[in-house]
Amino acid sequence: MWNKYCKKQIPTLVQWRGGTQVWKNMLENRACIEQFLLWEPKGGSSSVWYGNWTKLGPLYLHHSAVQTCHPMIDVERFLKETGWDYVNMQQQLSEAVINQVRLHMGHAMLTDQGDKPWWTKTSSGKFSVKTAWELLRKKEEVNEIFKYIWVKDLPFKVSVFGWSVWSNRFPVAIVMANWNPIISQLCRCCSVPMRETLEHLFIKGEVANRVWRHYTSAAGIIGSFIQIKQTIKLWWDTTGNARPKLVFQAIPNIILWFLWKRRNTVIHGESYSVSKVIWDVNNMVQKFMMCRFGYKDIPSTWPLMVALLDDFRPCFKTSCVRWYPPHEGWWKVNTDEASKGNPGPSAIAFCVRDNNGDLVVAKGVKIPDSTNLTAEAMAIRKGLIYCCEKNYTHIIVETDSLAMVHMLNGVWDTPWNVALEISSINRMRELLTVRVQHSLREGNTLADYFANLVFDFAGNYEFTTYQEVPNIGKNIINMDK
Ligand SMILES: [Zn+2]
Repeated sequence: MWNKYCKKQIPTLVQWRGGTQVWKNMLENRACIEQFLLWEPKGGSSSVWYGNWTKLGPLYLHHSAVQTCHPMIDVERFLKETGWDYVNMQQQLSEAVINQVRLHMGHAMLTDQGDKPWWTKTSSGKFSVKTAWELLRKKEEVNEIFKYIWVKDLPFKVSVFGWSVWSNRFPVAIVMANWNPIISQLCRCCSVPMRETLEHLFIKGEVANRVWRHYTSAAGIIGSFIQIKQTIKLWWDTTGNARPKLVFQAIPNIILWFLWKRRNTVIHGESYSVSKVIWDVNNMVQKFMMCRFGYKDIPSTWPLMVALLDDFRPCFKTSCVRWYPPHEGWWKVNTDEASKGNPGPSAIAFCVRDNNGDLVVAKGVKIPDSTNLTAEAMAIRKGLIYCCEKNYTHIIVETDSLAMVHMLNGVWDTPWNVALEISSINRMRELLTVRVQHSLREGNTLADYFANLVFDFAGNYEFTTYQEVPNIGKNIINMDK
């Protein structure tokens, strides 16, 4: 059959345009949903063990699997620009699988495209809810669930993964231990290991619980988080605007994906902290929001992303916002950053004013490409260093980054990428009396102006007198008084 269809074309492309009745029947007789999804290796981004890229079904279920636990590796591991790396494959895959690849997909090569999913239930290879539903019509609510689980603009493999967790088809430790008693039934997520059930791994275990709570608390979702389906549904059932709803719909799939990735990484002896899981989830949510809504400047923490999504609620702020000078004996440091892209060429600035609103110093510096949050932290650190040198001991730091304020005040956990900056700020706070407060953009116009001035100046500057400041800056200082 393969010889007949695969002479001139990539085999995976050939068959879905049609094929013999035999092949069709073969497909239709397979019971599980992911076996109707085929990945055509192009960029190597599909999962070695959990995607169906060889037409043998997901390899973790394949009887010839030589391994009993399956790392989260992508096909890229084996696919090079010159073709398959059979030597490398031999260390991980069984002879039967390698033969399958050699025989039927021998001419695949690594390209810069993503792997292509083919839905094998339609002749076009395009996924349709209808065909999938027909496959599974016996199960209740399938139609509804498909609508939610298949999230557009999310990597396809992540949605597929969400589906397999939902439909309870998962090789967690207690299942694997049934097949092979040598395998431990214990989890890798708790300080006192427990039996790794599906529910434990994805919801109840210590790691899972912390991750879910991180996301639900900022999103305002309240629940007990004991069952997977019930928790996922809480996310789907949120009411409100379209944008947060779309993101909330994608969140469960993303969290499940990275919990699984963590679990497999840890089983292989590497470390994978809860913060890293959160970092990875955030990254994917960021990309999703970029694709879906075309946002350019997306904050790097989840609570801020929620705030950004919430900003699109049609509401009107009536509060009047302005800058206020500090009390006598205090200095106020306003900080800001400006960047072209996140990350991208960035600049930071701080300015110090006294209780009369008079400028003491303004400094702007070009910094290496970094994220908004890192830049904010650097601006604050430099401002405090300056105050330390000048013996200004009572400082109010004002920034328009609410995230930074929350982190410095210990309300939010610090992401690892700003941890260094934050801890050096905190060390300086032991020497000075520092209050950190939030200011809306309207109250931070001078610092904003100075940060952008770095780009206009094409370089660093320091003004220590009012006279040196360009006219626009002078105007802002006067208006703030
Ligand atoms: Zn556990």
